[in-house]
Amino acid sequence: MEDAEFYIVDFDRTLVDSDKMLEVFIEVTQEFMDMPKAQIESAHADVKMRGDSFDTAGYVRDSLFAEGNGEQWDQLEKRFIHESRSLNYLMPSAAELLEWLAANGKRYGILTYGNPLWQHLKLTAAGFNHARHMILEQKEKGKLISTWQNNDGSFRLPDALGRRSASHIVMIDDKAVSFDNFPGSPSKGYWVLDPANELPSQQGTVPPNVQRYNDLQSVIQAL
Ligand SMILES: [Mg+2]
Repeated sequence: MEDAEFYIVDFDRTLVDSDKMLEVFIEVTQEFMDMPKAQIESAHADVKMRGDSFDTAGYVRDSLFAEGNGEQWDQLEKRFIHESRSLNYLMPSAAELLEWLAANGKRYGILTYGNPLWQHLKLTAAGFNHARHMILEQKEKGKLISTWQNNDGSFRLPDALGRRSASHIVMIDDKAVSFDNFPGSPSKGYWVLDPANELPSQQGTVPPNVQRYNDLQSVIQAL
């Protein structure tokens, strides 16, 4: 049987509303420590401006330890996950995208950039910890994906994404930099970024086999 394509879906700002998650996390944090909300927000904003991923969880955990309350970190994590259970963090049409993939028998995995502690906590809070996923500490996902390519052009997926073969890769992501060194056609990319709300860290140039769309709904129509 011939290998089919494999879908790589980004997490932050593609599948989930990361601002909403951060807001809830900061609120929960307030129950455990005196750290002013503005302190976390400004530390987060500084890093976001640089286009880097802020290790929000590590920042709060380290602060708890510094206050001598390190043992409360587990509680805080559990509380955040519990609070999140009743919330919907999904971006508009993210549920439809996942339904489309399932209904069409498409294999997919989440490739997310950021600090492992924070990314793992967010994946769990949003209910994606059981989906195939990989947490990457480099922004250039395309560069990593290129290393999976065999001499015949097909792809060998890493263990975390199921270790199977794929004929080509289809990637959906909100950041241009994610597509740096992305493999050429027939692999293809869907850069989903609403011009009305774009951040400097999402902007950039993408290879010719990557098309830009304003939202996931338009991506689903184009798939
Ligand atoms: Mg993203």
